Amino acid sequence: KVRVRFAPSPTGPLHIGGVRTALFNYYFAKKNNGTFIIRLEDTDQTRFVKGAPEYIKEALEWCGIVPDESPWNPGECGPYVQSERKDLYEKYALQLVEEGKAYYAFDTPEELEAMRERLKEAKVDNLQYNAITRTQMKNSLTLSEQEVKARMEAGEPYVIRIKVPQKEEIRLHDIVRGWVKVHSFTLDDKILMKSDGMPTYHLANIVDDHLMGVTHVIRGEEWLPSAPLHVLLYQYLGWEDSMPQFAHLPLILKPNGKGKLSKRDGDKLGFSVFPIEWKDPETGEISSGFREDGFTPEAFVNFLSLLGWNPGNEQEIFSFDELTEHFSLERIVKAGTSFDIDKARWFNQQYLKNKPDAVLATELLDILSKEGIDCSPELAEKIAGQMKERVTFLKEIPKEAGFFFATPEEYDAKVVKKKWTEEAVHVFGQFKDAVLTMDDFTADTVKEKLNTVLEENGVGLGKVMQALRVAVTGKGGGPDLMAIMEILGKQEVHDRIQKAIE
Ligand code: GLU
Repeated sequence: KVRVRFAPSPTGPLHIGGVRTALFNYYFAKKNNGTFIIRLEDTDQTRFVKGAPEYIKEALEWCGIVPDESPWNPGECGPYVQSERKDLYEKYALQLVEEGKAYYAFDTPEELEAMRERLKEAKVDNLQYNAITRTQMKNSLTLSEQEVKARMEAGEPYVIRIKVPQKEEIRLHDIVRGWVKVHSFTLDDKILMKSDGMPTYHLANIVDDHLMGVTHVIRGEEWLPSAPLHVLLYQYLGWEDSMPQFAHLPLILKPNGKGKLSKRDGDKLGFSVFPIEWKDPETGEISSGFREDGFTPEAFVNFLSLLGWNPGNEQEIFSFDELTEHFSLERIVKAGTSFDIDKARWFNQQYLKNKPDAVLATELLDILSKEGIDCSPELAEKIAGQMKERVTFLKEIPKEAGFFFATPEEYDAKVVKKKWTEEAVHVFGQFKDAVLTMDDFTADTVKEKLNTVLEENGVGLGKVMQALRVAVTGKGGGPDLMAIMEILGKQEVHDRIQKAIE
């Protein structure tokens, strides 16, 4: 039975790449009637950032992810926060030491630095604690048993390192990239237990994936270099048979395709790389998120899911359920995908366009009230209907369609210059009085009335239309003018034209 996990480190806000990883894990779990787990990997307490766990929870909820097991709704494999599992890891590290697959190391930071310097001078490319350098360092492989014991008893700090074999090929199969082979010489004797008694990411990750019964590890490509070490750990711990399958997701690239997308790219080009707003607890600095930028979660999720996954046909619009239904790890692409904010906006537009007016009205009322604009639900629904194809975000409406809420203070200068003729003003004078006499005031009847007035004056519609729009809305463009007038009502239309021709 499929069990997958999303295992963020609470070191700050989730980047959209992290959200995508969560989504792909989620689709895969749901598609296979499996379980989706969230596990917080906070073993590096120095990098813990206050508010990050809550941020992760809220961001994933906004996207529609409902975890089956998580720190907030634990299942049977808890706790789901690594720092709360601290006592669990040591036993495995000690087991490895016992079996000669790991060892104690007593090197001080200065000694490690000196080793790196030595290697640098000798022009050794990989500055690592490995099979060769370990013979020169202070560890239980080079010190006598008594000395190791004495140092420990004296309370000297030490770590436990994995003993990487000297000459071995480590192979792993990645669902996205196929077979990956590395020579063990290129691997570090990575630390498994730190001197503070905390496990490192590598040990905790493997132990937890094993104990939580994880069947597939779906994560970002930046973890691919660690994967051989993880395979080695599975072998060392005797868990090779139940080792999860790996799928490493391609990077999300900068808009120009050159390198990994970063927050700086977003700052420079004016878009967010975070799903929801993040307030830095130290500096108080606020970084906007897709949610605050006005994206609907459906559009955001749809957009993000097509970065690095290819549905195999031309379809672009996918509901959450469809994404789950169509998702497969085999269709994850190998190459990185460039981030394109215009595409994201396009998705938002598509979703906006297709939402029922009544649904949009609720959201719009919220936006309007934040701007201090009074509006009835009926009016909001009508405005949403008129504007939804003309904006990318609902939050543009107060500005783009401000004429629904207030008499224009300014009139589009270009139109006024070109179209504000004496003839037009004359017609408007009659038209504004005529509308007041109408009983049934709809887009159709206003149009009829306007035509009648125009005919009586022998003036064509084209001569006055734009000027009339400016008189009523102040703007040179917008939704159907007759529909706008219907929404405004006859008295308002009269008053606005009156004001404009005065
Ligand atoms: N804690 C790691 C991260 O922050 C998880 C990597 C993994 O999924 O193994 O991305």
